[in-house]
Amino acid sequence: MDLNYTAEEQKFRDDVRSWLEANVPTDWTGRKAAGASMEEHFGYLRAWQKRVFDGGWAGVSWPREYGGRGANLMQQAIFTEEMARVSAPPLANILGLALIGPTIIAHGTPAQKERFLSKILSADEIWCQGFSEPNAGSDLAALLTEARRDGDHFIVNGQKVWTSYGWAADWCELVVRTDPAVPKHKGLTVLLVDMHSPGVEVRPLRQMTGESEFNEVFFHDVRVPVENVLGAVNDGWNVAIGTLMHERATLGAGLHIIYRRQFQRLVDIARKVERNGAPAASDPVVRQKLAQIYSEIEIMRLNQMRSLSRISQGGAPGPEGSIQKIFWSELNQRFQQVAQEVLGPYAQLDKGSEFAFDDGQWAYTYLRARGNTIEAGTSEIQRNIIGHFVLGLPRSY
Ligand SMILES: Cc1cc2nc3c(=O)[nH]c(=O)nc-3n(C[C@H](O)[C@H](O)[C@H](O)COP(=O)(O)OP(=O)(O)OC[C@H]3O[C@@H](n4cnc5c(N)ncnc54)[C@H](O)[C@@H]3O)c2cc1C
Repeated sequence: MDLNYTAEEQKFRDDVRSWLEANVPTDWTGRKAAGASMEEHFGYLRAWQKRVFDGGWAGVSWPREYGGRGANLMQQAIFTEEMARVSAPPLANILGLALIGPTIIAHGTPAQKERFLSKILSADEIWCQGFSEPNAGSDLAALLTEARRDGDHFIVNGQKVWTSYGWAADWCELVVRTDPAVPKHKGLTVLLVDMHSPGVEVRPLRQMTGESEFNEVFFHDVRVPVENVLGAVNDGWNVAIGTLMHERATLGAGLHIIYRRQFQRLVDIARKVERNGAPAASDPVVRQKLAQIYSEIEIMRLNQMRSLSRISQGGAPGPEGSIQKIFWSELNQRFQQVAQEVLGPYAQLDKGSEFAFDDGQWAYTYLRARGNTIEAGTSEIQRNIIGHFVLGLPRSY
C-alpha cells in the first residue's frame, strides 16, 4: 500500500486543521473538570459535538444524503488524527456516531433514517448499545431479554448490563430474543428503543476508576412500536454483528496519536523523576521500556493504515478489525504499566494533589486501561475470531 497522502487528502487535512484551530475549546483539560458532575461534563461534550455538527464535521464519513460529509475512510482517519493532535474533547454521542448510525444506514428503513440520523450527528439524541447481559457477553447469542409481539408493538422484558452511557441515553440499539424455539442465533431481533419509555429503569454501576460510565438497564413490559425493528424480525444477529464490526474497526482509530502525545508527556516526566539518584530517563532499563512502547505505537499506526486501506478496497469492516482491537487494548495496558514504573509513588496521586503529574491522569488511565481488553469483545474472543475467520483455523469451541 501507498503510505503517502494524496493531494486531496492533504487538502482535507488542512481544512480540518484550520477549522479546529478556530473552534477547539481552549479550556479542555483532557478529563472531567474538578468538581463537575457527570451531567455537567457530558453537557460540555454535547455542546462541543453540536459545534462540530454546525461546522459540518460530525459524521465525516457518513454519506452526504444522511447529513455526513461523504469523506472516505482515509479522510475519516485524518479527521480523527487531527482531533487527537489538538487534544480536542471527544464527541458526546460516540456510540451513535461510530456504531449505531452506520448500522441504521446499513439496515434502516427510509423512515428510520429520516427520524434518527441527523439527531445522532447533532447530539440532540444520545444513543447506547444494549447488547450484553449478565449471562451473555462473549456469547452474545445466549441473551435472554425477550420481546413478545402484541399487535403493533413488541413488549420487552429483561436486563442488560455494562450499558455505556445508559444514564445519558435517549435511545438504545437493543438486541432481544423474539423466537425462543429456534437455534439461538436465529431468534434475535434488533429494536430501536426509546429510553424514556415507561418501564425502562437505569441503575449506575461504579467502576474502579470511581466513575459510573456504564449501567444496568432493566426493561419491565416496555412497549416498542413494530416500526422500530431494525432490519428484519429474527435477523438481529446479522444486524448486531455489523455493529460489532464497526466497533472493533473504528474505536481504535486515532488512538495512536493520543498514545503518542501521552508517551511524550511520559518521556518529559522520566527526565524529571529520579531513579537511584539520577533522572529515570538515564536508566538503561527505563530507556529500553520507553523505546519498546514508542516502537509499538508506531506499529499500531502502520497497522491502522493497513486496515483502513483494506476497508477502503473491500467496503465494510471485516474480521481483521480484531487484530487492531487486540493490539491497541493490550498495548495500552503495557504502556500504562511502564508509566506506573516511571512515575513510581507519584503514579498513585489523583487529581487535586499538588504533587501529581498531569493532574493525576496517570492513576486514572492505568485503571481505565484494564477495561480495554474486555470492552468491544475480550482479547480471547478476538483471538478466536482471528483464528477462525482470518486464518481459517478450526473453531476452538
Ligand atoms: C468499559 C466497558 C464498556 C462496555 N460497554 C458496553 C456497552 O455499551 N454495551 C454492551 O452491550 N456491553 C458493554 N460492555 C460489555 C462487554 O461487551 C462484555 O463485558 C464483553 O463482551 C465480555 O463479556 P462478559 O463480561 O459477560 O464476560 P464473559 O463472556 O463471561 O467472559 C469471561 C471470561 O471468559 C473468557 N471467554 C468467554 N468465552 C470464551 C471463549 N469462547 N473462548 C475463550 N475465552 C472465552 C473471556 O475472554 C473472559 O476472559 C462493556 C464492557 C466494558 C469493560
